[in-house]
Amino acid sequence: MTVRTRKPYIAGNWKMNLDRSKSLDLVKTVKGRIGDGSGREVAFFVPSIYLADVSAVAQGSPLGVGGQNMWHEDHGAYTGELAPRMLREVGADRVLVGHSERRHVFKEPEEWMSRKLRAALDSDLQPIFCIGEKLEERKSKRTDRVLKKQLESGFAHVKPEDAHRISIAYEPVWAIGTGETATLEQVDLAHATIRKWLTSKVGEEAETVRILYGGSVNPDNAKDIMALESVDGLLVGGASLQAETFLPIIEYDA
Ligand code: PEP
Repeated sequence: MTVRTRKPYIAGNWKMNLDRSKSLDLVKTVKGRIGDGSGREVAFFVPSIYLADVSAVAQGSPLGVGGQNMWHEDHGAYTGELAPRMLREVGADRVLVGHSERRHVFKEPEEWMSRKLRAALDSDLQPIFCIGEKLEERKSKRTDRVLKKQLESGFAHVKPEDAHRISIAYEPVWAIGTGETATLEQVDLAHATIRKWLTSKVGEEAETVRILYGGSVNPDNAKDIMALESVDGLLVGGASLQAETFLPIIEYDA
C-alpha cells in the first residue's frame, strides 16, 4: 500500500474547451462529490472568461479554481494578458505556470517561468509548475537534463520557505493529449529526478512539494499511476471535461 505524507492533488485542465453552461454543470457535479476535501485536493483550471462564474459555483466547497496562465506584471501595456491580481479578483486561488502548450505552441521562453512563479507566489496564487521533455529529447536520453534545466530556471527566485506552496507537474510533451501515457517506470524515474533536484535546491522543504503526473491520464490508468509512491497527484486534460471520466479519476482508490 502507498504510504502518503502529502495530500493527493487531482487537477483538471480544461484548456480552451467547454462552454459556460457545461462548465457550471461539471463544477456542480464534482462539487457535490468531493465531500469536505479532507482526503484529497481537487481543482479545475478554467478559461479565464469563465473564472468568476465557476468560482461563484464552487464557493463554499473545497474545490479549487485556477487560471491556466498569467503574466507576471501587476499592470501595464500587455494587451491580451492577465495580472495575478486579476485572477485573484475573479476567485482564482491557483494558476498553471509553464504548461507545455504555453511553452511549445505559444513559444513562451524559459526565462519567463521564474518571473511567473515568483509573481504567483507573491499574489498568493498556488502554482502548478509544469515541466516535461519532448519526444526527441527522450529519444536522445536527455530527459533528466531537460527536467533539471527547467527546474533550475523556474525556481531561480524561489526560496526554500516558498516550496510548500508550489506543486510540480511532470508532463512529458509526447504524452499530452496523445492517448500515449508514460510507463510507470518512466514516471517513477522522472519523479525521482525531480524530488532529488528539489532536495538539492530547498533541502528538507522538498518533502512538502507535491509532484503530479500529467499526460493522457484516464479512468483506466489513474489508479496504477497513483499507486506509485513518487506520484502525489494528477494533472488531467481531456478526461477532466466530463464528470463520467473525471470522477473515477478523482476516486481512483474507490
Ligand atoms: C494537460 O492538459 O496538462 C494534459 C495532461 O492533457 P491530457 O490529459 O489530455 O493529456
